[in-house]
Amino acid sequence: MKYKKRLLYIENVSAERIAKKFGTPCYVYSYDKISNNINNFKKNFKTISPLICFSVKSNSNLKILSLINKFGLGADVVSKGELIRALKAKIKPEKIVFSGVGKTIDELKFAISKKILLINTESENEIVEIEKIAKKNKKKINIGIRLNPNIDAQTIKKISTGKKENKFGVTEKKFLELLKKYKRSKFISIICLSVHIGSQITSHLPYKNMLNVVNKIIQKSKYKFKYLDLGGGMGIQYGNNLNNLDYSKYNQLIKSFLKKNNSKIIFEPGRSIVGNAGYLISKITYIKEADSKNFVILDSAMNDLIRPALYGAKHRIIPSKLNRKKISKKHEFVGPICETTDTFLNVANYQKIKQGDIIIICDVGAYGMVLSSNYNLRPKPVEILVNKSTTKIITKRQKLKNII
Ligand SMILES: *Cc1c(COP(=O)(O)O)cnc(C)c1O
Repeated sequence: MKYKKRLLYIENVSAERIAKKFGTPCYVYSYDKISNNINNFKKNFKTISPLICFSVKSNSNLKILSLINKFGLGADVVSKGELIRALKAKIKPEKIVFSGVGKTIDELKFAISKKILLINTESENEIVEIEKIAKKNKKKINIGIRLNPNIDAQTIKKISTGKKENKFGVTEKKFLELLKKYKRSKFISIICLSVHIGSQITSHLPYKNMLNVVNKIIQKSKYKFKYLDLGGGMGIQYGNNLNNLDYSKYNQLIKSFLKKNNSKIIFEPGRSIVGNAGYLISKITYIKEADSKNFVILDSAMNDLIRPALYGAKHRIIPSKLNRKKISKKHEFVGPICETTDTFLNVANYQKIKQGDIIIICDVGAYGMVLSSNYNLRPKPVEILVNKSTTKIITKRQKLKNII
């Protein structure tokens, strides 16, 4: 993404052109960004040769998943729907892991029938159900057990998952109990310890604490895990937060961990693979002048991108056409939905903008379109993939007649 002669380009196509051709609101993904993110991830963790399972919940677009498959990644799924989608994208079952606290019996049966790499269980009840299915099928099933390491991921409270008050995983005590109880089971093979402490983690220190806890528990259990699934959570740069996780520091921590415990590492990154590769192109419907600020009312809303309303996330909003006129009065970019939380960003000293202008909400490739809804009976936006000078629709815009 860069400005050329004051016009914003995503790869070789201007945002203005995309808006004209496909309408707004419009999600756009850059092929180049996704491939760079994947290559960069692989390069930084090369020395530990992990299995990288893309977190499908961050972006489940079929075309994006096919692309991710092309780069050799596996998938981390959290529902039957995501599993079917991942298989449809030709991701091999032996590269798929299934996570989540509430997998239904139907979902477990389906996952087992597809012979995926492993099911990461999160409670004893779930293990009991898997054992029942296994007995019936006279098969031995590979599982992981998710540990809740009681670690503060130092991220937004609403996306922290590794503290004991969060619903995810089992405590250290329970983990050891389950291991003892099920390690000689004829129907279950515990091959993995899994953890995932949260999302948008920008410091390596929470991971360091996590690895210390995992190391201690493995020493205590004297059990050899074939896999160690460390989850995802690698943070990226958003808005004013210009930190991102230093992969090399994290890699170093894992390397020294592996000297004591020899397991194959699994990662489940989502945001760090697609987050900064997505843009939401929107048009300004009105600018409403109020006393202390101007409301810039967009044609995209919280039904298209809910992260600001849901987590207080801040996404950069940039103009498609640069000019040199600055307005000191504050601007608040909002959507048209009848909710006070349908607001994106407050900015001061924005450039001069007017009704009909195109703006771009940045870094929406993860947890953007997947969280969109039809609230206010608004159709979901179109999704476009840009590769150099070509643009391709990868999901059509919903038609009003199909949702009414
Ligand atoms: C959401 C989730 C991920 C992906 O998290 P990112 O922050 O997008 O990398 C990975 N593993 C599990 C179990 C998850 O729930």
